[in-house]
Amino acid sequence: MPLQSIPPASLATKRIQRMLRKDMRSEPVRIRFGLPLGNTTDTNQWVGALFLAYGAQLMDAKGNITVKNNDKVKQVLEYGKKIAGFCTPDAQAWDDASNNKWLISGNGSLIFNPPSAWAVAKRDAPQVAEKCWFGGFPKGPAGRWDVVIGEDMCKACGFCLSVCPVDVFAYRKAPNKIGWFPMYTAHEENCVGCMLCYQICPDFCIDVSPKATTSGLTAAVALRGGAR
Ligand code: SF4
Ligand code: SF4
Repeated sequence: MPLQSIPPASLATKRIQRMLRKDMRSEPVRIRFGLPLGNTTDTNQWVGALFLAYGAQLMDAKGNITVKNNDKVKQVLEYGKKIAGFCTPDAQAWDDASNNKWLISGNGSLIFNPPSAWAVAKRDAPQVAEKCWFGGFPKGPAGRWDVVIGEDMCKACGFCLSVCPVDVFAYRKAPNKIGWFPMYTAHEENCVGCMLCYQICPDFCIDVSPKATTSGLTAAVALRGGAR
């Protein structure tokens, strides 16, 4: 069973916005989003990415709290409040497995971290898997991400490749100066700014920072055929 092709970020954005509009018209909302809101890694990842999409930070690099009179924080909280209204009420008590179970149950839509949910749905709930697709999350105003690899230092351990949730990395077919086939950013446009690659690289080869000029944030999501 082939996974439906990845829509470009702009198309995914439109589709999600359509879901939001449609759900706002329906009372009660019939298919809720599966975005965890508890104190879990999954929550931190999508909420953190959402904040970064707005350029909203609660603290600066020196550790000073930057919440007061911060328009970006206000904007992201407004958006977050709206999104939270589409989530299942028990999302605040979810753990890291809940979003996958939610999607596979066939009762929910729109989760983060779709690869494992897709793999399990294909095995256990093919009727759900056949309605899944994945693509970009709605763009934010703050900008896409620059992912820079110091390829000459890369020892091709593959950690970044395995930790990246959105397939940004690939191996080069030519060796670097130290004889390894280094990693490069094959799909930088997919980056959601989660910083996992930055944290995991044992040789400090990777830098991730917001792009200064263009706008938008993409993140992996899986949707169950949109809102009904
Ligand atoms: S920051 Fe996250 S999404 Fe971006 S390349 Fe690194 S691991 Fe992938
Ligand atoms: S984690 Fe660092 S050293 Fe390992 S493959 Fe990625 S860039 Fe290269």
